[in-house]
Amino acid sequence: MKVQDGAFKKAERLTKLPPYLFAQLDETKRKLKEKGKEIIDLSIGDPDIPTPEPVIYRLIEASKNPVNHRYPSYEGLLSFREEVRKWYLNRFDVSLDPDGEILTLIGSKEGIAHISLGLLNPGDIALIPEPAYPVYQAGVIFANARPYYISLKEDRGFLPSLEEIDPEVASRAKLMWINYPNNPTGAIVKDDFFQKVVRFAKKFNIIVCHDLAYSEISYDGYKAPSLLQVEGAKEIGVEFHSLSKSFNMTGWRIGFVVGNRELINILRQVKTNVDSGVFQAVQEAGIEALKLGEKLTEKIKNIYRKRRDLFVEGLRKLGWKVNMPLATFYLWIRIPGGKSSIEFTQYLLEECGIMVTPGVGFGPSGEGYIRIALTVNEEKLKEALNRLEKIRVK
Ligand SMILES: *Cc1c(COP(=O)(O)O)cnc(C)c1O
Repeated sequence: MKVQDGAFKKAERLTKLPPYLFAQLDETKRKLKEKGKEIIDLSIGDPDIPTPEPVIYRLIEASKNPVNHRYPSYEGLLSFREEVRKWYLNRFDVSLDPDGEILTLIGSKEGIAHISLGLLNPGDIALIPEPAYPVYQAGVIFANARPYYISLKEDRGFLPSLEEIDPEVASRAKLMWINYPNNPTGAIVKDDFFQKVVRFAKKFNIIVCHDLAYSEISYDGYKAPSLLQVEGAKEIGVEFHSLSKSFNMTGWRIGFVVGNRELINILRQVKTNVDSGVFQAVQEAGIEALKLGEKLTEKIKNIYRKRRDLFVEGLRKLGWKVNMPLATFYLWIRIPGGKSSIEFTQYLLEECGIMVTPGVGFGPSGEGYIRIALTVNEEKLKEALNRLEKIRVK
């Protein structure tokens, strides 16, 4: 049937996506805005700080070059991939071949969604953590494959407990997603976690996709490791990177994936059929960002660190129990009292005009938590703390 109840009928893959849970919140937000209430929005995982100037200047120059006005190559400029190689070697001490082990992406989200189309058949199983960035699941659902959810629990530092995965399921699973530093929990890997992942993947013949979007956002001396630092990791996996969070470039749409040659070629094959690459001038700007590397990220991190300290300490003074995250710009906070994450978000919005993200939006195990994004300036964070004074959390 093409039409049902007078409307075009969606493909099943769209109906299999989880329902949108926040309509009521959107409605409240709209009403408050109508009344002229200034909402402090702590729900947005999108840096408020502008892209560094040298990156912008490089785009301006590169955009004048007619060579860049034509279709880019599918794998991305060799000069961009070469810069990724250097950055990886310098940052992680991992060697990569720009010819086959690196692929430019139109933002990492694009690659994250598309790799499932290249790897999964209908009915195949993919292991997906939850709470998580929703795109892992969307890609798997669009491939008509089956997500098998692994709950991330606080008492395990929000790391998946690989030993507890049913071996029956593990032997049938084709793909597994991990993401550290983690959105939304702010968790980081511990000790030998990546070694365990590689061992597990080899034992059960599972492909590992690691999302390392927050590699450069970390504090207090912590530096996020790469999965590919583990011996043998390149045999079983790939790692997705983004310039979005590292260099405040979410609007530019540039990221990359590195690692196993065959897997990268499979993703490349999907992409050659659906997109035509990243505007070369943007890739040149990306080269500039990677080249300047820590010179840029140090400043960016410092801004977030100050915000983190200010807000965590402020919340603690108000009686909230909050962990100080060592990476990402998120606070993942257990909700005081007995409210659900949507109820509590609604309450914060109505009582304080503060918007946060209900944890349940990232998966059922996110229930009982909210996510706060430190993507507003210190002044607004102070104002948020003032507003929070009037609600009791004990
Ligand atoms: C922001 C984000 C991304 C995607 O970033 P792009 O802008 O598409 O490169 C990927 N993974 C996680 C966990 C994110 O938070």
